Amino acid sequence: MSKKKLGFQSTLIHGGGFEDALGSPTVPIYQTSTFTFKSADHGAACFSGEDDGYIYTRLGNPTIGAMENVVAELEQGYGGIAVSSGMGAVNTIYMGLLSQGDHMVSSAAVYGPSRSVMEKHWSRFGVESTYVNTANADEIRQAIKPNTKMLYIETPANPTMDITDLEEAVKIAKEHNLITVVDNTFSSPHLQQPLTFGIDIVFHSMTKFLNGHADVVAGIIVAREKEMYEKLRPIMINLGVNMDPHQAFLVHRGIKTLSVRIDRAQENAIKIAKFLEEHPKVKWVKYPGLPSHPQHELAKKQMKGFGTMLSFELKGGYDAGKTVMNNVEVALLAVSLGGVETLIQHPASMTHSKVSKESKLKAGITDGLVRYSVGIENVEDLIDDLKQALDKI
Ligand SMILES: *Cc1c(COP(=O)(O)O)cnc(C)c1O
Repeated sequence: MSKKKLGFQSTLIHGGGFEDALGSPTVPIYQTSTFTFKSADHGAACFSGEDDGYIYTRLGNPTIGAMENVVAELEQGYGGIAVSSGMGAVNTIYMGLLSQGDHMVSSAAVYGPSRSVMEKHWSRFGVESTYVNTANADEIRQAIKPNTKMLYIETPANPTMDITDLEEAVKIAKEHNLITVVDNTFSSPHLQQPLTFGIDIVFHSMTKFLNGHADVVAGIIVAREKEMYEKLRPIMINLGVNMDPHQAFLVHRGIKTLSVRIDRAQENAIKIAKFLEEHPKVKWVKYPGLPSHPQHELAKKQMKGFGTMLSFELKGGYDAGKTVMNNVEVALLAVSLGGVETLIQHPASMTHSKVSKESKLKAGITDGLVRYSVGIENVEDLIDDLKQALDKI
């Protein structure tokens, strides 16, 4: 492409290089399962790869491809692979890169299903895993075995907000010849671009920040190098976790406002974090933007902003958590995150209610822990809302 390399926000709008034949500034929705060939020879050329014409939507589709190209540019990778959900990305990566007898080291505080699918299901195919606090480099080193193939990181972690040093993680992985994977859902490429640190693969639940409007479930994988991209794309196709064209259109529409949404929500987040930190019923607040966050300096170094996710612990424990959930009026009581609307949830009584008390504590999930995803509402409304809900404890 002869075009000058654009800045991040311009790439959100103009990235990917899609040009519509009829001049539409948005990508048309090619809502089709299949594509007709001009002739038998053309069909043969599409199948052999001589012609890059479309064949069948599970293999590729112009609406999906345009969105994949934008996200690949945003993450500064070789190519994007759109999938039906964030979990579609997780399983494509596990299936594509781990075989029987291989071992994976992962952050312990990961999205729950990323861990349970490994421990309950991939283990049945002989894949081993060890979960450690990857924010501590020594724990990573100690967990590595001769058959370790992958280092899987979520940073900031969910819901503890612990931060893993990406530069250090890449260094350790190089020493042991490991593939590095980062779940970048919590940051989005607006705040953190792991591939620029030498990470091999990033992926997203686009259900969260990239789409940003709580109306689509979707995922994407971006590989730094062509070789890795070519390894993973056929896995997505054969697993059948492809995206739908309409889903791609909606996500692409959401992506255009990624930076303005996050910048706006971050302004709210720091004010809310400070309000909570001073509140007498709150034991502690974890937000990477607060100087009290143990890895505040590391966050400053490897992220371009502190994000819109925070967690806090209520002095009143489990019952206090439920009281706040039942009394907020502006924040919506729901799981998920990264949308324009503020969401609140209580892991002990909701997402992690089935996890044993011991495992919960090990993952940093205490009874009074509240997870809060800050939206773009007026910050005064959000603070007043929390204030009145905390008063009910
Ligand atoms: C939501 C989420 C996922 C799973 O994504 P789905 O789109 O729900 O399948 C994975 N990782 C993180 C960090 C998430 O928040």
